[in-house]
Amino acid sequence: MAVFKLDNVEDLYEIGEILGSGHFGQVREVRERATGTRWAAKFLKLRRNASSRLGLERKNVEREVEILQALQHGNIMALRDVFENRAEVVLIVELISGGELFDFIAAKESLTESEAIEFIEQILQGVGYMHSKNIAHFDLKPENIMLSDKDSLLPDIKIIDFGLAQCLTQGEEYRSMCGTPQYIAPEVINYTPLSVATDMWSIGVITYILLSGMSPFQGDTNEETLRNIVEMNYEFDDRHFKQTTAMAKDFIQKLLVKEQSERMTAEECLLHPWIKPLTKKQAANRKRSSINMRNFKKFNARRKWKMSYNMVSACTHLSRMQLLCKTRDTENQELRQCESDQEDTETNRASLMRRRLSSSS
Ligand code: AMP
Repeated sequence: MAVFKLDNVEDLYEIGEILGSGHFGQVREVRERATGTRWAAKFLKLRRNASSRLGLERKNVEREVEILQALQHGNIMALRDVFENRAEVVLIVELISGGELFDFIAAKESLTESEAIEFIEQILQGVGYMHSKNIAHFDLKPENIMLSDKDSLLPDIKIIDFGLAQCLTQGEEYRSMCGTPQYIAPEVINYTPLSVATDMWSIGVITYILLSGMSPFQGDTNEETLRNIVEMNYEFDDRHFKQTTAMAKDFIQKLLVKEQSERMTAEECLLHPWIKPLTKKQAANRKRSSINMRNFKKFNARRKWKMSYNMVSACTHLSRMQLLCKTRDTENQELRQCESDQEDTETNRASLMRRRLSSSS
């Protein structure tokens, strides 16, 4: 079991500006008083009692902490320390100052496929490492892919937010309906057992968006998006993919596969010729092709705009649509546990309460 320190975090760290907000609290920059080193502190509100709807259950915080403790990789946010008081748990983590990968790319004039691959390769390395430990992230999306430092020419990818991550045990099934509509795999919507391959689907979606600026399953409503995913309704429209190599499309096609066992694993992705070219011609093609920057900038602007809104949760949608759940009890439990069901990062107390109430109604 994870051990949380009972010291007052403010005695050891000076609390600074807000860096972002998650569903259960804020992330702030902090300065370690003893050394002057800068870190980030993730404040997670704890649920006061079993009947309370606000805050996280301690066991969920413990799970996030145990997973972060098990992961030490250059492309995964590092955990330094954990403090606890009556109301909250504070995770002291590596400060990631480069912002989101998508914002970094959207600020550029152009980007070749080979430049985009440098980032995708790092995502795959981080994800491959966690999968080698049977840990699945279950919430891979642009908001959770950050950069160490935006001033360097090729900053390091840092995967954040392990709030939905799970350590999968062989022989035990794990189901969940949580995630963000655009990025979730069919097995999430169908409420069938998930696996590390569930993350690989999300990487397929992220790559599709990165290259074309279009979201493969995006419908006019979340319901339509979910239906498109279940029906595998996507295509490579020439209008958006005219600068994309055939290898890149093949890479995506091998990830957006309904059957989990047939999806490429992270290890296999790292050996795919789009990532690791076998010939000079393949390498040259990647350098000549570029991402659809005009579309990508539009996509990112729309994404940021949506993030400032409190979107109705996917979990609520899923339950309303009654698409999938077999048993009410399990469903309600799942819904209560769902933490990342909005495409926003600014969740205030009131909206959180509304969301929780609607989730459990
Ligand atoms: P999270 O609750 O983990 O999703 O974090 C909420 C937001 O805080 C993220 O979307 C980031 O903008 C920001 N954030 C999270 N972790 C860090 C970090 N280690 N360094 C800097 N900003 C962070």
